[in-house]
Amino acid sequence: METTEAFVGLTCVDCGETFDPESATHRCPDCDGILDPDYDYDRIDLSREDLADRPFESMWRYEELLPFPKRAAVSMDEGATQLVECPSLADELGVGRVLFKDEGRNPTGTFKDRGQTAAITAAVQHGATDVALNSAGNAGQAAAAYAARAGLDSHVFLPSRAGFTNKAMVNVHGGDLTVVEGRIGDAGAAYADAMAEHDDWYSVKTFVTPYRHEGKKTMLYEVVEQNDWDVPDAVVYPTGGGVGLVGMHKAAKELRDLGLTDDLPSMYAAQSSGCAPVVEAFEEGKDVHEVWEVPDTICGGIEIPDPGASPLILDALRESDGGAVATSDEDILDSAVAVAQHEGLEMGATCAAAASGAWELARRGEFGEDDTVVLLNTGAGNKDDDVLRSHLMSKGV
Ligand SMILES: *Cc1c(COP(=O)(O)O)cnc(C)c1O
Ligand SMILES: [Zn+2]
Repeated sequence: METTEAFVGLTCVDCGETFDPESATHRCPDCDGILDPDYDYDRIDLSREDLADRPFESMWRYEELLPFPKRAAVSMDEGATQLVECPSLADELGVGRVLFKDEGRNPTGTFKDRGQTAAITAAVQHGATDVALNSAGNAGQAAAAYAARAGLDSHVFLPSRAGFTNKAMVNVHGGDLTVVEGRIGDAGAAYADAMAEHDDWYSVKTFVTPYRHEGKKTMLYEVVEQNDWDVPDAVVYPTGGGVGLVGMHKAAKELRDLGLTDDLPSMYAAQSSGCAPVVEAFEEGKDVHEVWEVPDTICGGIEIPDPGASPLILDALRESDGGAVATSDEDILDSAVAVAQHEGLEMGATCAAAASGAWELARRGEFGEDDTVVLLNTGAGNKDDDVLRSHLMSKGV
């Protein structure tokens, strides 16, 4: 296996045991907990100047802080997305600055590419021939794309309500697509049945592979570096399984521990009130979510009723002095339209939960008037153009 110098192993977040990444490929061999890549930070010698000397061309420019070196990565130069200033939104929210991290500018149009470049690289390192996952849609499309690039076969299980673009592009990438009637849990059951029949399939599913949150860490490194090493006050993130939120919080702690920054940004989880298990657990002061009984939101990417990593998400929210907020689908779609009309920027329906969550947090007085607030736009607006246009139609436009 070709790994980076400081990457020392995978540590189980439940039992604390550390494993060799060569043999431990997915969940904890002892207790089935989530495995988290661990580094010997003393071996990482990285300064702001070192980074300034590197081209801003892909997330692999932070290779010292990733498990695999850039030369081993199955990459399409994902990441290195723009951080766009939003003066109208800053006025509307009553804060100093709003910065829009535009993950729509990734190879398959969402930040899922950052997770899949890392997970598929691991699959190649482990000698996999086939990768598999269930997904709400975007992760499946990204997995099919990166598998194609690596010459692997992909098996993607999507619920019937996944968007047309996702289904179509899995086909276009040559993936083996199974559309399952129902929602993400139904697709998960079909995936589990298939995995039981194919013991050579390698999972690239959320928090089953240890590498997806690791890839998504890089969003926070980029935001801080693009903001001239000024740590933003708040990051608002449309939260489903919490992969990106957990990854970004880890990244913020790493930068601080390496002496590159002093503070942590407050992390905020934004969900739809149609499926808000993380918000409910946060508000009730719990350490773990309860399964959301009847999930129903148009925001497919965050319709995750049973987020297995909720203890990690809730830790990140509390440790960073952040919070959690749920808004209605109606407000979320209105926000996507408002951002498109006031700033010109395109947000997907799921992604717009971050904008509508930020508006709600501002109404509650959560932000200071000089604060810098980052909105994580997890994907491109044109992946959901039909949903957004239909929303206008529901208003007679
Ligand atoms: C997957 C997805 C999310 C949620 O991501 P998590 O890291 O699992 O919480 C948000 N937005 C979009 C567009 C997605 O595809
Ligand atoms: Zn364990």
